[in-house]
Amino acid sequence: MHETCHGERPGFCRCAEGELRTTSGVCWRAEQGRSGGVESEHMPEEVAPHIYRLAIPLPDSRLSTVNAYAVLNGDAVRLVDCGWNTPEAYEALKAELSALGPGIAGIREIVVTHIHPDHFGLAGRVAEESGARVLMHRLDGQLVGARYADTRALIDEMEVWLRLNGVPADELAAMTEGSLGMLRWVDTRRPDVLLEDGERLAWEPYRFEVIFTPGHSAGLICLFDRESGVLLSSDHVLQRISPHVGLHVQSSADPLGAYLDSLRAMHDLPVTTVLPGHGKPFSDLAGRVDQLLEHHAERLDTIRATLAGGPATAHDLAARLTWRGAEDGWATLEPFQRRMALTETIAHLEHLLAEGRVKREELDGRVLYTA
Ligand SMILES: [Zn+2]
Ligand SMILES: [Zn+2]
Repeated sequence: MHETCHGERPGFCRCAEGELRTTSGVCWRAEQGRSGGVESEHMPEEVAPHIYRLAIPLPDSRLSTVNAYAVLNGDAVRLVDCGWNTPEAYEALKAELSALGPGIAGIREIVVTHIHPDHFGLAGRVAEESGARVLMHRLDGQLVGARYADTRALIDEMEVWLRLNGVPADELAAMTEGSLGMLRWVDTRRPDVLLEDGERLAWEPYRFEVIFTPGHSAGLICLFDRESGVLLSSDHVLQRISPHVGLHVQSSADPLGAYLDSLRAMHDLPVTTVLPGHGKPFSDLAGRVDQLLEHHAERLDTIRATLAGGPATAHDLAARLTWRGAEDGWATLEPFQRRMALTETIAHLEHLLAEGRVKREELDGRVLYTA
């Protein structure tokens, strides 16, 4: 079976040691070849010295994969993010770490860059199996219980808040519960260590600094090694898509303001290699930061202009804006996508409010915004 296995990158295809086998005993690379020609996406790729990108498959997502990064030092692995808690993601992570040598048992620490299921979902299972410590920023670490374990209060709060922001009664239940399906993809684990901005992680040969970059989530962190210029940017800066920044019941008052500030703060870092949470590595951080800042400036102007017709709820406004995937109208979006669009619209409105460019008032149990 293994004779079909021939690695393109020197050092990875170690068939003689059997390190590329999946649990079913099949050559990992050959199996990937049979399963639709996506093998290069499922092989560890050395993206900086001692740092390997592990592309973990996502269920039903247009992003298709999330990146976990393994920092390898002998038999010890430090993992940054893990993927959803699905059998496919687990098998991919296991096979890729086995291909590198240490396997899951070699993981000593797992840094979860933020609380979203695609980055956090497998942390519990992997930590349990390896004995690794889980590290997260304090702010996301504190949200784990309410979001994934005792969710009732959060769901009730979300319903009240969606109604306040103009969601009609017939859409309320579906939009409130739109994210519940994701709970099955998270093996809830409270972090062992809560990180703060500026802390150092001495992961030989790197010395990563924790950079607190809130916005996409309340406690998102990037890791930066000044000497090599390697930045693990998580979902804060992605090359092809603009990360979702939404305001909801677990976020700060102005998450878009926080996001734009943390983008600007990152602009001049001496970065040579950006290792993002999704997609391929890239190098032009400053250029990408400029594009993202410009995108949000345009979006803020568009949203303010859309308010020219008179006071509106965030929901009415969101339904009038253009959204990717909603070319046939707002109603064609799935309830969860509508909620994402709504929370993103509110984030922009509240940032306009903070800048003094719109007004907000509450009338008959609805929040109305005015230009
Ligand atoms: Zn995310
Ligand atoms: Zn993500």
